Amino acid sequence: MSSQTKLLLIVIDGVPLRDWRRLFGNLEGWVQTGEAQIWAMRSVLPSVSAPCYASIHTGASPQVHGIHSNEARFRVELPDLFSEITRAGRKTGAVTHSYWSEFFNRFPFDPVRDLEYDEPGGPITHGRFHTMTGYNASNQMTPSDVDLFATLTMLCERFGIDYGILHSCTLDSMGHRFGHDCAEMDHACGVLDGMLAAFLPRWRKAGYEVIVTADHGQTDRGHHGGHEDQQQDFALYYFGSGRPVGESGLLDQLQLAPTILKRLGISIPETMKAAPFLE
Ligand SMILES: [Zn+2]
Repeated sequence: MSSQTKLLLIVIDGVPLRDWRRLFGNLEGWVQTGEAQIWAMRSVLPSVSAPCYASIHTGASPQVHGIHSNEARFRVELPDLFSEITRAGRKTGAVTHSYWSEFFNRFPFDPVRDLEYDEPGGPITHGRFHTMTGYNASNQMTPSDVDLFATLTMLCERFGIDYGILHSCTLDSMGHRFGHDCAEMDHACGVLDGMLAAFLPRWRKAGYEVIVTADHGQTDRGHHGGHEDQQQDFALYYFGSGRPVGESGLLDQLQLAPTILKRLGISIPETMKAAPFLE
């Protein structure tokens, strides 16, 4: 029954479509064996992280939700996945950069109050965040992806969350440092693919559908933000029993939020205008 569906959204920051297809051997292997379905998806513009995060969760464009850059942030007022899932009486979890807490719970982020919280009233029922304070191109300040995947697994197994989002900046940071056409990036993508593969069967066995995707692409020079295939386009892998609907071409990032609500059996607010791509 779709009303019992639980789902995890794994957002790997800053990976272009080409690198998903050639470097993530575990995910591609699951596509080959029929465990996963794959689509290409195009980000909103600007193809910048914070605007994309807000669009992933609200289903609205930056021109509507108002997050136009990483620098000008505030609590987004539109309905989003956390607010709608909580309103339906279900539990949400987040293991992400602190921007997600700012956009969908409270701004500004206070590390002592907000790095970890459990708030039954939601909208984020169980939040575990990191700030990457001090980040620059030569000092990534990112947590290990194993720690992030394990934390999400803990939220699933300890609290029984119905929806969980995990977001990792590792590969975006690697891209800003090295670009996407180099041995360092080949290796980093392979490492992350292997770490994710160790957890994915456990999530599936626990009854979760899983979506693995990016927020935007990134160029060989390590850039994103603009209007170009390599800056905007990325893969979306789906593990679950939903059937594809609509055209099979390039998906729009604004379809992601209403698709997740549809899979969870929760009504889609009017502000999410794009069509779900799964039923
Ligand atoms: Zn990003």
